[in-house]
Amino acid sequence: MSPRNAQRGAIMPRNTRLLPALLLLGSLLYAQSPESPTRFKPGFNLFSKEQDVQLGQESAAQVRKQMTIVNDPFLKNYVTQLGKRLAASQEAQASGFPFTFEVVADPSINAFALPGGPMFINTGLLKAVDNEAQLAGVMGHEMSHVILRHGTNQASKQNLIQLPALLGSQMTGSSMMGQLAQLGIGLGANSVLLKFSRTAESQADITGAHLMAEAGYDPMQMAAFFEKLSAEGGQNAPQFLSDHPNPENRNRAIQEEVQRMPAQQYGFQTGKFDQMKQAVSKIKEPPPKAAPAQ
Ligand SMILES: [Zn+2]
Repeated sequence: MSPRNAQRGAIMPRNTRLLPALLLLGSLLYAQSPESPTRFKPGFNLFSKEQDVQLGQESAAQVRKQMTIVNDPFLKNYVTQLGKRLAASQEAQASGFPFTFEVVADPSINAFALPGGPMFINTGLLKAVDNEAQLAGVMGHEMSHVILRHGTNQASKQNLIQLPALLGSQMTGSSMMGQLAQLGIGLGANSVLLKFSRTAESQADITGAHLMAEAGYDPMQMAAFFEKLSAEGGQNAPQFLSDHPNPENRNRAIQEEVQRMPAQQYGFQTGKFDQMKQAVSKIKEPPPKAAPAQ
């Protein structure tokens, strides 16, 4: 016996017949304890969380004036039911943001969420999804931008000098949007609050995958839907992709994250997807409006 083997013998069980069993047990334990899921924290931000909520609520009021909100109670309840399932997830709960869900009569394939939680889902998106998990994917992705405070993070980075004074002097009851408009922060085309970097996109994909999985939806359906949107590409690329630019290897990144997550049963369905499709097919959409003024 070489010295090295002698040393190893000291820590190994004397009964070598046990060894294969122990090795097998070890590999089983290893297989059952994958890496942990990736957790992101919100980045640098000059806004307080309360200011995210205030800004989002003021912006939502503007959206309701400028866009056509669908008042169909079934559709409103449907997106709210899905949204609440996602909002019950660990990371959404920890954020403490008050999420709300509304449908907008707009044929473009898009959805957006304002800082602090108000989410708007276009009828165009409801018509484009192939199954409920894909809709949950887009909603989970949007919710993750809110949780990670990407909108106000971007606004903070771009207005480092002017924002602290403005946010510090903000008086209760005054319009935050009005003041932010002086810095060019609003809901117009290419709004810093709604148009994200590829890094923010990757984070929203990963966090969105967690939200989906906890709600019982297969996260790979989010990847499948984004792939479907990319395939349309070119001049007719859906609005969603211009606000949410495709990060590299989106599909693979989501798949790798799923492997880090605890094994789950997917396949939850409200059972109302077909009824949603019928209801949304009856909604008359106005021609797309010009982007709201800054
Ligand atoms: Zn995004």
